[in-house]
Formats: sequence, structure tokens, C-alpha cells
Amino acid sequence: MYKTDICILGAGPGGATAALHLAQKGIPSLLLDKAIFPRDKICGDALSGKVVNELRRIAPDLPELLGQQQEQVPSWGIHFMSPGGQKLSVPFKFNYKPGQDAAPGFIAKRVHFDNFLVEQVRQRPQIQLQEGVEVTRCERLPEGGFLLAGKSGEPLVQTRLLLVANGAQSGFTRHVAGLQQEPAHYCAGLRAYYKGVTGLDRDNFIELHFFKDFLPGYLWIFPLPDNQANVGVGMLSSVVSRKKINLKKEMLRMLHGHPALRPRFAGAELLGDIKGYGLPLGSKRRSISGDSYMLLGDAGALIDPFTGEGISNAMISGRWAALQAEHCLQAQDFSAAFMQGYDRAVYNRLWKELKLSHRMQQLLHYPWLFDKLAGKAAKNRALAETISCMFSDIDLRERLKQPSFYFKLLFN
Ligand SMILES: Cc1cc2nc3c(=O)[nH]c(=O)nc-3n(C[C@H](O)[C@H](O)[C@H](O)COP(=O)(O)OP(=O)(O)OC[C@H]3O[C@@H](n4cnc5c(N)ncnc54)[C@H](O)[C@@H]3O)c2cc1C
Repeated sequence: MYKTDICILGAGPGGATAALHLAQKGIPSLLLDKAIFPRDKICGDALSGKVVNELRRIAPDLPELLGQQQEQVPSWGIHFMSPGGQKLSVPFKFNYKPGQDAAPGFIAKRVHFDNFLVEQVRQRPQIQLQEGVEVTRCERLPEGGFLLAGKSGEPLVQTRLLLVANGAQSGFTRHVAGLQQEPAHYCAGLRAYYKGVTGLDRDNFIELHFFKDFLPGYLWIFPLPDNQANVGVGMLSSVVSRKKINLKKEMLRMLHGHPALRPRFAGAELLGDIKGYGLPLGSKRRSISGDSYMLLGDAGALIDPFTGEGISNAMISGRWAALQAEHCLQAQDFSAAFMQGYDRAVYNRLWKELKLSHRMQQLLHYPWLFDKLAGKAAKNRALAETISCMFSDIDLRERLKQPSFYFKLLFN
């Protein structure tokens, strides 16, 4: 059995980032994962500018290193398809020059991206990575901290502080932190890999399709290397169960029946199975820490409710968790009250964005409004440029402060 001050449960983007920041501070940690890397994770595989920014914070050369990997493509923007069929193309950077400018975002299968981060982990002597270790029980110790146990109840780790980064299905989140899955703040997602989809953007713009008959859900097509694409759908769980929607059937209906997609998928080949997984959305503020623990990434429900983007927020929470852990060690204070510093830091950074995205998500209930915005921006260069600048802004907080901003855009 290991005895440690800091144990991190889960070596996905949240956990790996926390371990890497701790290592940078010279603080040792034990990082556990039930999987052996490289491992798959059901995801859209889109790595936003915020991810690039977080990579840079881990090490300045990491974005460039990622850009050199064969398993990624650089992505330069988004095509939004509105319910009325309007196409709004928004580059992440205005007047961008591929080949000259650094890529603002990437698309890479998670099997590769997460392994890329774990490779960084392997290079840090301060991090003890243990793969193939499944933790099934976490018990509070009378002297403080947690005892983690494995499948057959065998004790695995005794830790003073636990960073919980084991994703959307975290048992700790439900049973110890007491946060339940709420269908109004939870999204159901499906992902498939296809080969040979036609009409993909030459600069790898990601595509988000909002079809009238699938609202408030959306379908995505994200280009990948080797003529492949990540194709998937997402919809609020409350809607899926209320309307008894079969997501897989709906996805295949759109791919093979919708006039905009049918010809593009006519010769495409589905690779492997269509797989589903949940997205705990950050549309509700929660208590993400307690006595001797912090919840990171999906375990703390930090996914953007409009875009479904969660990798960057997991990494951001990992960075703040490392800082809080440092403070805890310095002060030898692991109390719930002291841990509140983590909640404050994470939500100071993310809450305004998450709140705004929640409003944007609700826009999907008003397709005409969505069409109006898309139509205006498609014709109005200044508006398109404004939206584009927002993507390249490293810190979106200032611009996204006022939700009324979007409404002004619509009605001016
Ligand atoms: C269909 C779908 C599409 C998405 N598309 C995008 C997208 O395009 N871009 C984006 O940014 N985000 C996307 N997301 C969200 C993104 O996948 C998550 O937000 C992100 O993976 C969160 O990272 P994490 O580190 O918190 O958790 P995870 O990446 O889930 O990592 C958790 C780790 O914990 C390990 N683990 C779990 N349980 C245990 C246990 N009991 N013991 C030990 N280890 C354990 C797992 O093996 C895993 O390695 C999507 C999600 C879904 C479901």
C-alpha cells in the first residue's frame, strides 16, 4: 500500500495537468488510472485555443510539440450550420495564414492526445504514475485524508489529499461529494469515426450542425488525419428521456437522410462502433471541494454547456488544484473551509463563460433567433470579425461579461 500526501485519481487531461503543475513546483504526487495508456476516451477530439493555452502553461514548447505529431490536424475555425440552413464560418483568427501562423486549435483522437500528456508525465520524476489500477472505494480516515481500495476491497493508497479526476462516471463525486447527475445539466453524447467523408474543410474547420428536427441537440463533424473524421451528436439528457429519443437512430438518420449530409456520407466507411458517453455540464455552480479533496474536470461537472468542450476546463481545474494543493501543504490545512480557495479560483475563471454558454444553449430552443444571428453574421463582416476575435482572445472573460452583448448584436 502506498502512503502519500497527494494522490490524483485519473490521468486524463484534468489529472495529468494537475500532476504536471505539481511536478513543476517540485511537489511529488501519485497518479492512478484504471487504464493503461494509450487508451481511448469517447470525445469529439477537438482541442480548442484554451487547450493550447493550457499546454503552454505546462511548458512553453508543448503546443509546438503537439503540432509536430502526425496524429493531429491543426484547425483554423468553425462552420456553424443554423436550423434554417445558413452557414456561418468563423475563423478562430481573422486573416489567418496556415503555415505561417501558429495553429489556434487542433483535432487529435483522445487515444493520442491523452497519451501525449501522459508522455509528459512519464518524464517527470516527481510523478509516480500507476496504470491499470482501478479504485472502487474511497473511505475517509479518522486522522484525515482517504483510504483508497481496489476491486476486491484490497487497500491501495492512503492519502492526505485526493484530487478526483476520474471523469463523468466518478463514484467519488456521487457517493462522497454527494453530487448527483441532473438530467437538465447533463448531456448524452455519441461518437463515431468515419473514413472518406467528403466536403471537409481544407483548413480543418470543425462543423457544428443544428438541424431543425434535432434541436436542441447538435451534430458535429470534425476532420482528422488520414482522411478520417470524428462524427457525433449531443443532446441534453432531460430532452432525450422526455422525448424518448434514440440518439443512434437519429444520428444515422441525419447522416444518411439529410440532403446536406447524405452525399457526403454516401461513400464513407464507419470505423468500429458508435459509442456513447455522458457530459456533465457546468451550467450549474456546484461545491467542487471538501475536507481533503477537490473535484477536477468532468468529476466536477465543468463542461461548457453550449459547445460541449471539457478538455480545457479539466486542464484549467487541474492547474488550480495543483496551486491549492501547494497551499494546503504549506499551511498543513486540508479542511473543507481552506479548500474553498479552489472553488473560488475555478469559478472566478470559468463561471462567467459557463453562464453565458448556458444562455447560448437556451438559444437552441429559439431556432429563429439562432437563424437571425447566423444570417446577420454571414452578411456582416464586422460582426463575423467580432465573433472570430472572441475565439482568439486568450481570456474570454472581459468580452463575454455581458450576455446582453449577444442580444445587442442581434437587434442592432
Ligand atoms: C461524446 C463526447 C464528445 C466530446 N467532445 C469534446 C470535444 O470535442 N472537445 C472537448 O474539449 N471536450 C469534449 N468532450 C468532453 C471531454 O471528453 C471531457 O470534458 C474530458 O475528457 C474531461 O477530462 P477529465 O480529465 O476530467 O476526465 P477523463 O478524460 O474522462 O479522464 C478520466 C480518467 O480517469 C480514469 N478513471 C475513471 N475511473 C477510474 C477509477 N475508478 N480508478 C482509476 N481510474 C479511473 C479513466 O480511465 C480516465 O483516464 C466530449 C465528451 C463526450 C462524451
